[in-house]
Amino acid sequence: MAPVLLVLLLFISSSSAAGKHEDPTRKTMEEFSGFQSPANPFVSDSSNSLFVDIESLQRQIDELSTFSDTPAPTVTRILFSDKDVLARKYIKSIMCQLGLSVREDAVGNIFARWEGYEAELPAVATGSHIDAIPYSGKYDGVVGVLGALEAISVLKRSGFQPKRSLEVILFTSEEPTRFGISCLGSRLLVGSEQLSEGLKEAVDGQNTSFLDAARSAGYAEDQEDNLFSSVFLKKGHYFAFLELHIEQGPILEEEGVSIGIVTAIAAPASIKVDFEGGGGHAGAVLMPARNDAGLAAAELALAVERHVLASGSVDSVGTIGILELHPGAVNSIPSKSHLEIDTRDIDEERRNKIVSGIHQSAVEIAERRRVKLSSFKIVNQDPPASSDELVINAMEMVSQKLNLTHKLMISRAYHDSLFMARISRMGMIFIPCFKGFSHKPEEYASPVDIANGVKVLALTLAKLSLE
Ligand SMILES: [Zn+2]
Repeated sequence: MAPVLLVLLLFISSSSAAGKHEDPTRKTMEEFSGFQSPANPFVSDSSNSLFVDIESLQRQIDELSTFSDTPAPTVTRILFSDKDVLARKYIKSIMCQLGLSVREDAVGNIFARWEGYEAELPAVATGSHIDAIPYSGKYDGVVGVLGALEAISVLKRSGFQPKRSLEVILFTSEEPTRFGISCLGSRLLVGSEQLSEGLKEAVDGQNTSFLDAARSAGYAEDQEDNLFSSVFLKKGHYFAFLELHIEQGPILEEEGVSIGIVTAIAAPASIKVDFEGGGGHAGAVLMPARNDAGLAAAELALAVERHVLASGSVDSVGTIGILELHPGAVNSIPSKSHLEIDTRDIDEERRNKIVSGIHQSAVEIAERRRVKLSSFKIVNQDPPASSDELVINAMEMVSQKLNLTHKLMISRAYHDSLFMARISRMGMIFIPCFKGFSHKPEEYASPVDIANGVKVLALTLAKLSLE
Protein backbone atom coordinates (compact mmCIF):
# COMPACT_ATOMS: atom_id res chain seq x y z
CA MET A 1 0.00 0.00 0.00
CA ALA A 2 2.55 2.55 1.14
CA PRO A 3 4.99 2.21 -1.77
CA VAL A 4 2.16 2.60 -4.23
CA LEU A 5 0.94 5.74 -2.53
CA LEU A 6 4.46 7.06 -2.49
CA VAL A 7 4.86 6.42 -6.19
CA LEU A 8 1.52 8.02 -6.91
CA LEU A 9 2.36 11.07 -4.82
CA LEU A 10 5.66 11.34 -6.60
CA PHE A 11 3.85 11.23 -9.90
CA ILE A 12 1.31 13.82 -8.95
CA SER A 13 3.62 16.22 -7.16
CA SER A 14 6.67 15.95 -9.38
CA SER A 15 6.61 19.20 -11.30
CA SER A 16 9.99 19.11 -12.99
CA ALA A 17 9.47 18.71 -16.68
CA ALA A 18 11.52 15.99 -18.27
CA GLY A 19 14.80 17.30 -19.60
CA LYS A 20 15.38 17.69 -23.28
CA HIS A 21 17.67 14.66 -23.45
CA GLU A 22 15.44 12.25 -21.62
CA ASP A 23 12.53 10.28 -22.90
CA PRO A 24 9.56 11.62 -20.96
CA THR A 25 7.80 8.26 -21.15
CA ARG A 26 10.71 6.60 -19.41
CA LYS A 27 10.95 9.30 -16.79
CA THR A 28 7.26 9.23 -16.07
CA MET A 29 7.20 5.47 -15.81
CA GLU A 30 10.09 5.54 -13.37
CA GLU A 31 8.24 7.91 -11.11
CA PHE A 32 5.10 6.03 -11.62
CA SER A 33 5.82 2.35 -11.46
CA GLY A 34 9.03 2.37 -9.52
CA PHE A 35 10.84 1.03 -12.54
CA GLN A 36 14.60 1.42 -12.15
CA SER A 37 16.32 2.70 -15.24
CA PRO A 38 19.78 1.51 -16.21
CA ALA A 39 22.55 3.81 -15.00
CA ASN A 40 22.83 5.33 -18.43
CA PRO A 41 19.37 6.26 -19.66
CA PHE A 42 20.59 6.36 -23.24
CA VAL A 43 21.36 2.66 -23.21
CA SER A 44 18.13 0.96 -23.98
CA ASP A 45 17.46 -2.31 -22.30
CA SER A 46 14.97 -4.17 -24.41
CA SER A 47 13.87 -6.45 -21.58
CA ASN A 48 12.68 -3.40 -19.69
CA SER A 49 11.67 -1.25 -22.63
CA LEU A 50 9.22 1.48 -21.75
CA PHE A 51 8.77 2.41 -25.33
CA VAL A 52 5.79 1.82 -27.50
CA ASP A 53 6.75 -0.89 -29.97
CA ILE A 54 5.29 1.03 -32.85
CA GLU A 55 6.78 -1.27 -35.49
CA SER A 56 4.99 -4.25 -34.05
CA LEU A 57 1.79 -2.24 -33.57
CA GLN A 58 1.90 -1.00 -37.18
CA ARG A 59 2.45 -4.59 -38.38
CA GLN A 60 -0.62 -5.66 -36.42
CA ILE A 61 -2.71 -2.81 -37.86
CA ASP A 62 -1.55 -3.79 -41.38
CA GLU A 63 -2.24 -7.45 -40.79
CA LEU A 64 -5.69 -6.82 -39.36
CA SER A 65 -6.53 -4.78 -42.48
CA THR A 66 -6.03 -7.90 -44.62
CA PHE A 67 -9.13 -9.46 -43.03
CA SER A 68 -11.32 -7.61 -45.49
CA ASP A 69 -13.98 -8.40 -48.07
CA THR A 70 -12.63 -5.76 -50.46
CA PRO A 71 -9.08 -5.38 -51.82
CA ALA A 72 -6.41 -3.20 -50.17
CA PRO A 73 -6.18 -0.34 -49.49
CA THR A 74 -9.90 -0.52 -48.76
CA VAL A 75 -11.17 -2.37 -45.71
CA THR A 76 -14.63 -3.91 -45.46
CA ARG A 77 -15.31 -5.92 -42.35
CA ILE A 78 -18.96 -6.55 -41.62
CA LEU A 79 -20.25 -7.97 -38.36
CA PHE A 80 -20.03 -11.79 -38.09
CA SER A 81 -18.77 -12.21 -41.67
CA ASP A 82 -16.02 -14.81 -42.18
CA LYS A 83 -13.42 -12.03 -42.22
CA ASP A 84 -14.81 -10.53 -39.03
CA VAL A 85 -14.55 -13.92 -37.32
CA LEU A 86 -10.92 -14.27 -38.50
CA ALA A 87 -10.11 -10.75 -37.32
CA ARG A 88 -11.61 -11.55 -33.91
CA LYS A 89 -9.44 -14.68 -33.70
CA TYR A 90 -6.41 -12.58 -34.53
CA ILE A 91 -7.18 -10.08 -31.76
CA LYS A 92 -7.84 -12.86 -29.26
CA SER A 93 -4.50 -14.45 -30.09
CA ILE A 94 -2.74 -11.18 -29.21
CA MET A 95 -4.76 -10.93 -25.99
CA CYS A 96 -3.66 -14.45 -25.04
CA GLN A 97 -0.02 -13.76 -25.93
CA LEU A 98 -0.15 -10.89 -23.45
CA GLY A 99 -1.29 -13.28 -20.75
CA LEU A 100 -4.71 -11.64 -20.42
CA SER A 101 -7.76 -13.70 -19.52
CA VAL A 102 -10.31 -13.52 -22.32
CA ARG A 103 -14.09 -13.59 -21.97
CA GLU A 104 -16.75 -13.20 -24.69
CA ASP A 105 -20.41 -12.41 -24.16
CA ALA A 106 -23.47 -13.56 -26.10
CA VAL A 107 -23.22 -10.86 -28.79
CA GLY A 108 -19.45 -11.09 -29.24
CA ASN A 109 -18.12 -8.29 -27.08
CA ILE A 110 -14.63 -9.49 -26.14
CA PHE A 111 -13.01 -8.64 -22.78
CA ALA A 112 -9.33 -9.21 -21.99
CA ARG A 113 -8.43 -8.74 -18.34
CA TRP A 114 -5.17 -8.07 -16.55
CA GLU A 115 -5.90 -8.81 -12.93
CA GLY A 116 -4.93 -6.09 -10.48
CA TYR A 117 -3.64 -6.75 -6.98
CA GLU A 118 -6.94 -5.46 -5.62
CA ALA A 119 -9.00 -7.40 -8.11
CA GLU A 120 -12.26 -6.96 -6.21
CA LEU A 121 -12.27 -3.22 -7.04
CA PRO A 122 -14.09 -2.10 -10.21
CA ALA A 123 -11.65 -2.35 -13.14
CA VAL A 124 -10.45 0.38 -15.47
CA ALA A 125 -11.39 -0.49 -19.05
CA THR A 126 -10.42 0.69 -22.51
CA GLY A 127 -11.32 -0.41 -25.99
CA SER A 128 -13.03 0.27 -29.30
CA HIS A 129 -14.22 -1.62 -32.38
CA ILE A 130 -12.74 -3.42 -35.38
CA ASP A 131 -15.73 -3.61 -37.72
CA ALA A 132 -15.33 -1.43 -40.81
CA ILE A 133 -17.98 -0.02 -43.14
CA PRO A 134 -17.65 -0.99 -46.83
CA TYR A 135 -14.57 0.42 -48.57
CA SER A 136 -13.23 2.22 -45.53
CA GLY A 137 -9.78 2.46 -43.93
CA LYS A 138 -7.73 0.56 -41.40
CA TYR A 139 -7.46 2.92 -38.40
CA ASP A 140 -11.00 3.75 -37.29
CA GLY A 141 -11.60 1.77 -34.09
CA VAL A 142 -8.58 -0.45 -34.68
CA VAL A 143 -6.19 2.07 -33.07
CA GLY A 144 -8.29 1.86 -29.92
CA VAL A 145 -8.16 -1.95 -29.78
CA LEU A 146 -4.64 -2.83 -30.96
CA GLY A 147 -3.34 0.42 -29.40
CA ALA A 148 -4.93 -0.57 -26.09
CA LEU A 149 -3.24 -3.96 -26.23
CA GLU A 150 0.07 -2.22 -26.93
CA ALA A 151 -0.60 0.09 -23.96
CA ILE A 152 -0.97 -3.02 -21.78
CA SER A 153 2.33 -4.29 -23.26
CA VAL A 154 4.03 -1.00 -22.42
CA LEU A 155 2.84 -1.25 -18.80
CA LYS A 156 3.79 -4.92 -18.53
CA ARG A 157 7.26 -4.30 -19.93
CA SER A 158 7.76 -1.44 -17.48
CA GLY A 159 7.13 -3.71 -14.53
CA PHE A 160 3.97 -1.83 -13.57
CA GLN A 161 1.50 -3.66 -11.34
CA PRO A 162 -2.11 -2.48 -11.62
CA LYS A 163 -4.11 -2.09 -8.42
CA ARG A 164 -7.51 -2.10 -10.12
CA SER A 165 -7.65 -4.67 -12.91
CA LEU A 166 -7.23 -3.35 -16.45
CA GLU A 167 -9.50 -4.58 -19.23
CA VAL A 168 -9.38 -4.20 -23.00
CA ILE A 169 -12.78 -4.44 -24.68
CA LEU A 170 -13.51 -5.16 -28.34
CA PHE A 171 -17.07 -3.95 -28.92
CA THR A 172 -19.37 -5.73 -31.33
CA SER A 173 -20.69 -3.75 -34.30
CA GLU A 174 -19.98 -0.09 -33.63
CA GLU A 175 -20.95 0.52 -37.24
CA PRO A 176 -24.62 0.03 -38.14
CA THR A 177 -23.78 -1.62 -41.50
CA ARG A 178 -25.38 -5.04 -41.09
CA PHE A 179 -28.35 -4.69 -38.75
CA GLY A 180 -28.86 -0.92 -38.86
CA ILE A 181 -27.94 -0.61 -35.17
CA SER A 182 -24.90 1.49 -34.28
CA CYS A 183 -22.82 0.71 -31.19
CA LEU A 184 -24.74 -2.52 -30.83
CA GLY A 185 -22.31 -4.11 -28.37
CA SER A 186 -21.81 -1.14 -26.07
CA ARG A 187 -25.49 -0.14 -26.23
CA LEU A 188 -26.44 -3.60 -25.03
CA LEU A 189 -23.66 -3.77 -22.42
CA VAL A 190 -25.02 -0.70 -20.68
CA GLY A 191 -28.45 -2.25 -20.37
CA SER A 192 -30.70 -1.26 -23.28
CA GLU A 193 -33.87 -3.29 -22.68
CA GLN A 194 -35.24 -2.00 -25.96
CA LEU A 195 -32.25 -3.40 -27.85
CA SER A 196 -32.31 -6.66 -25.92
CA GLU A 197 -35.89 -7.17 -27.12
CA GLY A 198 -35.27 -5.75 -30.60
CA LEU A 199 -32.35 -8.09 -31.29
CA LYS A 200 -34.67 -11.08 -31.09
CA GLU A 201 -36.42 -9.82 -34.23
CA ALA A 202 -33.52 -8.09 -35.99
CA VAL A 203 -32.68 -9.22 -39.55
CA ASP A 204 -30.10 -8.00 -42.05
CA GLY A 205 -30.62 -7.07 -45.72
CA GLN A 206 -30.47 -10.76 -46.70
CA ASN A 207 -33.13 -11.59 -44.12
CA THR A 208 -30.63 -13.42 -41.90
CA SER A 209 -31.61 -12.99 -38.27
CA PHE A 210 -29.17 -11.47 -35.80
CA LEU A 211 -29.41 -14.68 -33.81
CA ASP A 212 -28.44 -16.88 -36.78
CA ALA A 213 -25.60 -14.52 -37.74
CA ALA A 214 -24.28 -14.50 -34.17
CA ARG A 215 -24.53 -18.29 -33.94
CA SER A 216 -22.66 -18.75 -37.21
CA ALA A 217 -19.84 -16.72 -35.63
CA GLY A 218 -19.88 -18.87 -32.50
CA TYR A 219 -21.92 -16.59 -30.23
CA ALA A 220 -25.43 -16.57 -28.71
CA GLU A 221 -25.39 -20.32 -28.30
CA ASP A 222 -27.59 -20.49 -25.22
CA GLN A 223 -31.33 -20.84 -25.72
CA GLU A 224 -32.41 -18.90 -22.65
CA ASP A 225 -34.89 -16.06 -22.76
CA ASN A 226 -32.42 -13.73 -21.12
CA LEU A 227 -29.74 -14.42 -23.75
CA PHE A 228 -29.28 -10.76 -24.62
CA SER A 229 -29.95 -9.22 -21.23
CA SER A 230 -27.23 -11.53 -19.85
CA VAL A 231 -24.82 -9.13 -21.55
CA PHE A 232 -25.86 -6.15 -19.36
CA LEU A 233 -23.27 -4.70 -16.99
CA LYS A 234 -24.31 -2.80 -13.88
CA LYS A 235 -23.57 0.85 -13.31
CA GLY A 236 -20.25 1.02 -11.48
CA HIS A 237 -19.01 -2.25 -13.00
CA TYR A 238 -16.06 -0.24 -14.27
CA PHE A 239 -14.27 2.48 -12.34
CA ALA A 240 -13.53 4.27 -15.62
CA PHE A 241 -13.62 3.68 -19.35
CA LEU A 242 -11.20 5.20 -21.87
CA GLU A 243 -11.14 5.06 -25.65
CA LEU A 244 -8.25 5.92 -27.94
CA HIS A 245 -9.45 6.92 -31.41
CA ILE A 246 -8.38 8.81 -34.51
CA GLU A 247 -10.02 12.23 -34.51
CA GLN A 248 -11.91 11.68 -37.81
CA GLY A 249 -11.80 15.44 -38.19
CA PRO A 250 -9.10 17.93 -39.23
CA ILE A 251 -8.57 20.02 -36.10
CA LEU A 252 -5.58 18.34 -34.44
CA GLU A 253 -3.65 18.05 -37.71
CA GLU A 254 -4.42 21.63 -38.75
CA GLU A 255 -3.36 23.00 -35.38
CA GLY A 256 -0.35 20.70 -35.04
CA VAL A 257 -1.58 19.32 -31.72
CA SER A 258 -0.64 15.76 -30.73
CA ILE A 259 -3.43 14.79 -28.36
CA GLY A 260 -7.11 15.68 -28.19
CA ILE A 261 -8.72 15.26 -24.79
CA VAL A 262 -12.42 14.79 -25.36
CA THR A 263 -14.68 16.62 -22.93
CA ALA A 264 -18.05 15.69 -24.48
CA ILE A 265 -19.48 13.48 -27.21
CA ALA A 266 -22.26 14.85 -29.40
CA ALA A 267 -25.16 12.48 -29.91
CA PRO A 268 -27.36 12.10 -32.95
CA ALA A 269 -31.07 11.94 -33.36
CA SER A 270 -32.13 10.15 -36.56
CA ILE A 271 -35.47 10.85 -38.16
CA LYS A 272 -37.23 9.17 -41.09
CA VAL A 273 -39.91 11.18 -42.87
CA ASP A 274 -42.36 10.21 -45.64
CA PHE A 275 -44.64 12.50 -47.65
CA GLU A 276 -47.36 11.37 -50.05
CA GLY A 277 -48.92 13.51 -52.76
CA GLY A 278 -51.11 13.01 -55.82
CA GLY A 279 -48.38 12.56 -58.40
CA GLY A 280 -49.38 12.94 -62.03
CA HIS A 281 -48.09 13.86 -65.46
CA ALA A 282 -45.34 16.50 -65.46
CA GLY A 283 -46.97 18.26 -68.39
CA ALA A 284 -50.65 17.77 -67.85
CA VAL A 285 -51.10 18.72 -64.19
CA LEU A 286 -51.00 22.49 -63.84
CA MET A 287 -49.08 24.06 -60.97
CA PRO A 288 -52.08 25.16 -58.84
CA ALA A 289 -53.46 21.62 -58.93
CA ARG A 290 -50.33 19.91 -57.74
CA ASN A 291 -49.51 18.40 -54.40
CA ASP A 292 -45.88 17.52 -54.99
CA ALA A 293 -44.32 15.21 -52.39
CA GLY A 294 -40.86 15.98 -53.79
CA LEU A 295 -41.14 19.72 -53.17
CA ALA A 296 -42.40 19.04 -49.65
CA ALA A 297 -39.23 17.03 -49.03
CA ALA A 298 -37.07 19.75 -50.54
CA GLU A 299 -38.71 22.35 -48.35
CA LEU A 300 -38.25 20.20 -45.25
CA ALA A 301 -34.56 19.73 -46.10
CA LEU A 302 -34.10 23.51 -46.04
CA ALA A 303 -36.14 23.75 -42.84
CA VAL A 304 -33.71 21.32 -41.17
CA GLU A 305 -30.85 23.65 -42.05
CA ARG A 306 -32.81 26.65 -40.76
CA HIS A 307 -33.62 25.03 -37.41
CA VAL A 308 -30.03 23.94 -36.90
CA LEU A 309 -28.61 27.38 -37.71
CA ALA A 310 -31.21 29.03 -35.49
CA SER A 311 -29.73 27.31 -32.42
CA GLY A 312 -26.84 29.76 -32.77
CA SER A 313 -24.30 27.12 -31.70
CA VAL A 314 -21.53 25.66 -33.87
CA ASP A 315 -22.14 22.41 -32.02
CA SER A 316 -25.56 21.95 -33.63
CA VAL A 317 -25.46 20.15 -36.98
CA GLY A 318 -28.08 18.65 -39.27
CA THR A 319 -27.80 16.52 -42.40
CA ILE A 320 -30.28 15.11 -44.89
CA GLY A 321 -28.25 12.11 -46.08
CA ILE A 322 -31.09 10.34 -47.88
CA LEU A 323 -33.73 11.90 -50.11
CA GLU A 324 -35.69 9.55 -52.37
CA LEU A 325 -38.45 10.38 -54.80
CA HIS A 326 -41.06 8.06 -56.21
CA PRO A 327 -41.54 7.07 -58.98
CA GLY A 328 -38.28 8.80 -59.90
CA ALA A 329 -39.09 9.65 -63.51
CA VAL A 330 -38.25 12.97 -65.13
CA ASN A 331 -41.77 13.46 -66.45
CA SER A 332 -43.66 12.40 -63.35
CA ILE A 333 -44.58 14.56 -60.36
CA PRO A 334 -43.24 12.80 -57.27
CA SER A 335 -46.10 11.06 -55.50
CA LYS A 336 -43.93 9.93 -52.59
CA SER A 337 -40.79 11.21 -50.96
CA HIS A 338 -38.61 9.80 -48.22
CA LEU A 339 -35.99 11.71 -46.17
CA GLU A 340 -33.59 10.56 -43.51
CA ILE A 341 -32.29 13.26 -41.22
CA ASP A 342 -29.42 13.20 -38.74
CA THR A 343 -29.08 16.02 -36.25
CA ARG A 344 -26.50 16.18 -33.48
CA ASP A 345 -25.43 18.34 -30.60
CA ILE A 346 -23.57 18.09 -27.32
CA ASP A 347 -26.54 19.78 -25.62
CA GLU A 348 -29.47 17.39 -25.44
CA GLU A 349 -32.12 20.01 -24.80
CA ARG A 350 -30.94 22.11 -27.75
CA ARG A 351 -30.86 19.08 -30.03
CA ASN A 352 -34.33 17.98 -28.94
CA LYS A 353 -35.61 21.49 -29.65
CA ILE A 354 -34.27 21.14 -33.19
CA VAL A 355 -36.02 17.78 -33.54
CA SER A 356 -39.36 19.23 -32.47
CA GLY A 357 -38.81 22.21 -34.78
CA ILE A 358 -38.28 19.79 -37.69
CA HIS A 359 -41.49 18.01 -36.75
CA GLN A 360 -43.49 21.24 -36.67
CA SER A 361 -42.11 22.20 -40.07
CA ALA A 362 -43.01 18.80 -41.53
CA VAL A 363 -46.61 19.19 -40.32
CA GLU A 364 -46.85 22.77 -41.58
CA ILE A 365 -45.31 21.99 -44.99
CA ALA A 366 -47.64 19.01 -45.50
CA GLU A 367 -50.68 21.12 -44.69
CA ARG A 368 -49.69 24.03 -46.88
CA ARG A 369 -48.71 21.81 -49.82
CA ARG A 370 -51.74 19.53 -49.38
CA VAL A 371 -49.60 16.40 -49.14
CA LYS A 372 -49.86 13.75 -46.46
CA LEU A 373 -47.16 13.46 -43.82
CA SER A 374 -47.49 9.67 -43.84
CA SER A 375 -44.67 9.04 -41.39
CA PHE A 376 -42.44 11.02 -39.03
CA LYS A 377 -40.39 8.52 -37.11
CA ILE A 378 -37.66 9.36 -34.61
CA VAL A 379 -35.45 6.30 -35.05
CA ASN A 380 -33.14 7.11 -32.19
CA GLN A 381 -32.50 10.05 -29.92
CA ASP A 382 -29.50 9.19 -27.75
CA PRO A 383 -28.42 11.61 -25.05
CA PRO A 384 -24.96 13.18 -25.48
CA ALA A 385 -22.30 12.34 -22.90
CA SER A 386 -19.75 14.32 -20.92
CA SER A 387 -16.33 13.03 -19.99
CA ASP A 388 -15.56 12.69 -16.30
CA GLU A 389 -13.44 15.34 -14.55
CA LEU A 390 -11.19 12.77 -12.91
CA VAL A 391 -10.47 11.12 -16.27
CA ILE A 392 -9.98 14.45 -18.06
CA ASN A 393 -7.55 15.58 -15.37
CA ALA A 394 -5.61 12.32 -15.60
CA MET A 395 -5.32 12.58 -19.39
CA GLU A 396 -4.21 16.22 -19.15
CA MET A 397 -1.63 15.51 -16.48
CA VAL A 398 -0.20 12.58 -18.41
CA SER A 399 -0.02 14.61 -21.65
CA GLN A 400 1.81 17.37 -19.78
CA LYS A 401 4.21 14.87 -18.24
CA LEU A 402 4.96 13.47 -21.68
CA ASN A 403 5.53 16.98 -23.08
CA LEU A 404 2.83 16.37 -25.67
CA THR A 405 0.81 19.28 -27.01
CA HIS A 406 -2.83 18.70 -26.22
CA LYS A 407 -6.18 20.44 -26.33
CA LEU A 408 -9.63 19.91 -24.90
CA MET A 409 -12.15 19.20 -27.63
CA ILE A 410 -15.55 17.79 -28.48
CA SER A 411 -16.15 14.55 -30.32
CA ARG A 412 -18.64 15.26 -33.05
CA ALA A 413 -18.69 11.68 -34.21
CA TYR A 414 -20.01 9.27 -31.62
CA HIS A 415 -18.34 6.19 -30.32
CA ASP A 416 -18.85 3.27 -27.95
CA SER A 417 -17.74 5.71 -25.23
CA LEU A 418 -21.05 7.57 -25.62
CA PHE A 419 -22.80 4.51 -24.23
CA MET A 420 -20.13 3.44 -21.75
CA ALA A 421 -20.59 6.85 -20.10
CA ARG A 422 -23.99 5.61 -18.87
CA ILE A 423 -22.40 3.08 -16.54
CA SER A 424 -18.90 4.43 -15.96
CA ARG A 425 -16.69 7.49 -15.75
CA MET A 426 -15.63 8.06 -19.35
CA GLY A 427 -12.87 9.78 -21.29
CA MET A 428 -11.53 9.71 -24.86
CA ILE A 429 -8.09 10.36 -26.33
CA PHE A 430 -7.96 11.61 -29.91
CA ILE A 431 -4.93 11.53 -32.20
CA PRO A 432 -4.55 13.45 -35.46
CA CYS A 433 -5.43 11.76 -38.74
CA PHE A 434 -4.51 12.81 -42.27
CA LYS A 435 -6.79 15.67 -43.39
CA GLY A 436 -9.40 14.35 -40.97
CA PHE A 437 -10.22 11.56 -43.44
CA SER A 438 -12.18 8.62 -42.11
CA HIS A 439 -14.56 5.98 -43.42
CA LYS A 440 -12.57 5.89 -46.64
CA PRO A 441 -9.36 4.16 -47.70
CA GLU A 442 -7.32 7.39 -47.48
CA GLU A 443 -7.74 7.23 -43.69
CA TYR A 444 -4.27 7.46 -42.12
CA ALA A 445 -2.64 8.13 -38.76
CA SER A 446 1.15 8.40 -38.52
CA PRO A 447 3.15 5.95 -36.40
CA VAL A 448 4.38 8.86 -34.26
CA ASP A 449 0.86 10.04 -33.53
CA ILE A 450 -0.32 6.51 -32.78
CA ALA A 451 2.62 5.97 -30.44
CA ASN A 452 1.82 9.22 -28.63
CA GLY A 453 -1.78 8.14 -28.19
CA VAL A 454 -0.70 4.76 -26.84
CA LYS A 455 1.65 6.44 -24.33
CA VAL A 456 -1.10 8.72 -23.06
CA LEU A 457 -3.48 5.78 -22.86
CA ALA A 458 -0.97 3.57 -21.04
CA LEU A 459 -0.13 6.15 -18.40
CA THR A 460 -3.74 7.23 -17.92
CA LEU A 461 -4.79 3.61 -17.45
CA ALA A 462 -1.96 3.16 -14.97
CA LYS A 463 -2.88 6.29 -13.09
CA LEU A 464 -6.60 5.43 -12.87
CA SER A 465 -5.76 1.87 -11.89
CA LEU A 466 -4.06 3.22 -8.78
CA GLU A 467 -6.99 5.47 -7.79
ZN1 LIG B 1 -14.78 4.28 -34.72
